Amino acid sequence: MKLVRYHYKNEENYGVLDKQNVLCLPTLAKLSKINLPQEFSDFIADPDSLGILEKLLRTVPLSHFRAASIPVDDISLLAPIRFPPKIIGLGWNYLDHASEVKMKVPEEPVIFIKPHTTIIGPSQKIVKPPFVKELDYEGELAIVVGKTAKNVPVEEAGKYIFGYTILNDVSARDFQFKDGQWTKGKSFDTFAPTGPCITTCDEIPDAKNLHIYTWVNGELRQSGTTKDMVFDVNQIIYHLSRFMTLEPCDIIATGTPSGVGMAMKPQVWLKDGDVVRIEIEGIGVLENVVEEK
Ligand code: MG
Repeated sequence: MKLVRYHYKNEENYGVLDKQNVLCLPTLAKLSKINLPQEFSDFIADPDSLGILEKLLRTVPLSHFRAASIPVDDISLLAPIRFPPKIIGLGWNYLDHASEVKMKVPEEPVIFIKPHTTIIGPSQKIVKPPFVKELDYEGELAIVVGKTAKNVPVEEAGKYIFGYTILNDVSARDFQFKDGQWTKGKSFDTFAPTGPCITTCDEIPDAKNLHIYTWVNGELRQSGTTKDMVFDVNQIIYHLSRFMTLEPCDIIATGTPSGVGMAMKPQVWLKDGDVVRIEIEGIGVLENVVEEK
């Protein structure tokens, strides 16, 4: 299933994306006299929600289905999770990217944290303050955590993943490397566009084999596959849960393949009006425009 958060007629809601329509889940639940959480984050955190929804979709009468459907052209998609407890990013997690920035492949994941104030949704603007001179994109597969996880073995890790989305780990390189650690350069407001949906695990049978592409103004810059990850999604859950508790709705940005602006010769930075488009197989397209202000 592809699940989305959206804005429609002055209300925020969530639902199932079904080609040209969105099925509003709180409306469908109300018509069907069953309980589903009002908030999407509560839906993700409730271990029973997906099972209830799957059963509901098998049995729902067509009249309820029609009454809860909204044409996708009439809605505005929002970031799937507005207030994740944590956004964790991985550095140098693709062999080709580690090589292009002349770094050794790490022995355990290199991580950093982005605050939730970085989150924006599809079509919202990435804001480049004028004092940022080296703005870059990083197209990434992002894990959405579904259950509280601590000390999870690799072979159990899949049970803790709710689904996957796309995250653009926008980075101000001039500030990322100035401090000796990355927080400042990764943490400007709007530096974590996410979406367009969360695809549940049943529709991503193999997260270790997904194509990922990034275009800037129509020019293909990144063309990679999650096969080239140093630590795959299950190993990431294992490593991270050894030293911090992962919580429902945490977002883990799993690193970026080669092709970032920093590694181009000469280096090319994002500027006002640039359009960054990221596509990941099985999830969709996330597109955002840069605005300098
Ligand atoms: Mg990154």
